[in-house]
Amino acid sequence: MSNNIHSKVIIIGSGPAGFTAAIYAARANLNPILFEGTQPGGQLTITTDVENYPGFPDGVLGPEMMDMFRKQAQRFGATCIFKEVTKVDFSKRPFTLEADDTTYTADSVIIATGASARLLDLPNRDKYMGYGISACATCDGFFFKEQEVAVIGGGDSAMEEATFLTKFAKKVTVIHRRDELRASKIMQERALKNPKIDFMWNTTVIDVGGEQKNGHPALTRVKLKDLKTGKEFEKPFTGLFFAIGHIPNTKLFKGMLDMDENGYLITQPKSTKTNIPGVFASGDAQDSYYRQAVTAAGTGCMAAIDAERFLESQD
Ligand code: NAP
Repeated sequence: MSNNIHSKVIIIGSGPAGFTAAIYAARANLNPILFEGTQPGGQLTITTDVENYPGFPDGVLGPEMMDMFRKQAQRFGATCIFKEVTKVDFSKRPFTLEADDTTYTADSVIIATGASARLLDLPNRDKYMGYGISACATCDGFFFKEQEVAVIGGGDSAMEEATFLTKFAKKVTVIHRRDELRASKIMQERALKNPKIDFMWNTTVIDVGGEQKNGHPALTRVKLKDLKTGKEFEKPFTGLFFAIGHIPNTKLFKGMLDMDENGYLITQPKSTKTNIPGVFASGDAQDSYYRQAVTAAGTGCMAAIDAERFLESQD
């Protein structure tokens, strides 16, 4: 383990929460270090148009927006490091973080590690991951031109992904475990009236299968179960997209920070304070309810203000 780099504030995560925390902390002269992690820019880099972020009346591309966030943070002196934090120790101050053989210490830490797509546990899932199975239609939709694909889920993500996929696929089938969608009215209507989208209700996916093609596996069929009758059957799909929600990226903090039963960090009401003084949590890592770019940015701002006040109280 090499040298020790110290910062008043270290931010873990590079989505709207992390960068907003960095902008505020930098403008408070705290010279924050921000770790970008394995997916610089976070979940917005795998979406296309963001149409609900205020200030962009014509919409903005997700990756473009995150570049703007990063530039704005850097303009005020934030240091962005393209590394993943692999270990933290919050048991004593200064806190210790390890990334890529370097130890960092910090007087305060802002967690903004976000969430990742949830996947179903299927016996043959990993064999076809990237070879027909995906958790991001925006990233991979292009590869499914004129094919028959399925999307699992009944929320806004499933409707959005299914609608997006109709730009490429011949037919898109939404597979949902109930007979009622969870998605917002407007997203439901858009998908329900799209002639290229079919719905398979009360159905769940239990496995996938395929063949070898050009030296790699290729998905050709999906095994399903009718949850009303219990009957199992197969359908020929060459693409399968998971859109069944997210899991917070908080494994790193297990045993150190209080979490709910789903792994979301618990913060004190009206603040971003965790159970450890000096450690603050923002964005999707602590929000299982709103999960929007604008709410994540809002809590990132709160975390920076909380960190600043904490540091002042320590001085
Ligand atoms: P979500 O609202 O939690 O929906 C997850 C869907 O997956 C539900 O329909 C759920 O079924 C299903 N599901 C969960 N676990 C499953 C399992 N094990 N097997 C089968 N199905 C399963 O998640 P989301 O769609 O990702 O949306 C998350 C948040 O982001 C929401 O607040 C949403 O409004 C927002 N969002 C907004 C937009 C937009 O406005 N453009 C786009 C995407 C997401 P049940 O319904 O039966 O629980």
